[in-house]
Amino acid sequence: PVHGEPLLQVDAVRKEFGGLVAVNDVSFEIRAGDIVGLIGPNGAGKSTTFNLVTGVLSLTSGAVRFRGETITGLPSRQIARRGISRTFQHVKMIPDMTVLENVALGGYLRGRSGAVRAMLRMDRAEERQLFAEAERQLTRIGMADRMHELAGNLALGPQRLMEIARALCTDPSLLLLDEPAAGLRHKEKQALAEVLRQLKSEGMSLLLVEHDMEFVMGLTDRIVVMEFGTRLMEGTPAEVQASPAVRAAYLGT
Ligand code: ADP
Ligand code: MG
Repeated sequence: PVHGEPLLQVDAVRKEFGGLVAVNDVSFEIRAGDIVGLIGPNGAGKSTTFNLVTGVLSLTSGAVRFRGETITGLPSRQIARRGISRTFQHVKMIPDMTVLENVALGGYLRGRSGAVRAMLRMDRAEERQLFAEAERQLTRIGMADRMHELAGNLALGPQRLMEIARALCTDPSLLLLDEPAAGLRHKEKQALAEVLRQLKSEGMSLLLVEHDMEFVMGLTDRIVVMEFGTRLMEGTPAEVQASPAVRAAYLGT
């Protein structure tokens, strides 16, 4: 994608769960090369918006376009193939497998069941390619030295990085991260921010759902603020920080 051109266009997306409007006609855009933050209090609809973009949930109404093409209603695997990848709010891993195995398998098996059986059905060449790609992505984010450790032995920070490596295996142009900094210690947040800045410098676009305002402020080009399912405002970090409406949403004042 050409730097600065519209990459993801979210157009009045809506999601109702029974009588609850979780996402209420929300629109925003991500331009190629940008890091966009999606922030808001708990229950604002951030994860649901993520799930609408990635095809995990079907929309009640609205449209999502990626690189100019409508992806609304496509199954999540096809959306991934077009270049959108994601991590989940809660780390998904097999704790007694190595980091490398988790990244290789996780990328392959995303959304499937019967992990071991699928592994056995893979031919040698396919398996080698998968592990080579996993190693490449772990190296890219600075985790090559930990790839033979058991995933369950890692602290939360490195586990989140492992998830990012897994998401990178499908060679996305847009990476969506759901609360990557949640629960991390200060040093781990700094390491994560460093990796995200590096990915941006390599041309990656990112959408970052975060509860942690400070983390988002230092990292993003633009921020979309959600509250009660609606888009409260959109602007630069400085604009968002200065907004009385945003302060009220966060602090209840
Ligand atoms: P956030 O990620 O901003 O904390 P969510 O998108 O997870 O918010 O949730 C938005 C609202 O939608 C909440 O009120 C939540 O309880 C509701 N919700 C989310 N997923 C479902 C679901 N699968 N079924 C019913 N309600 C849901
Ligand atoms: Mg959430």
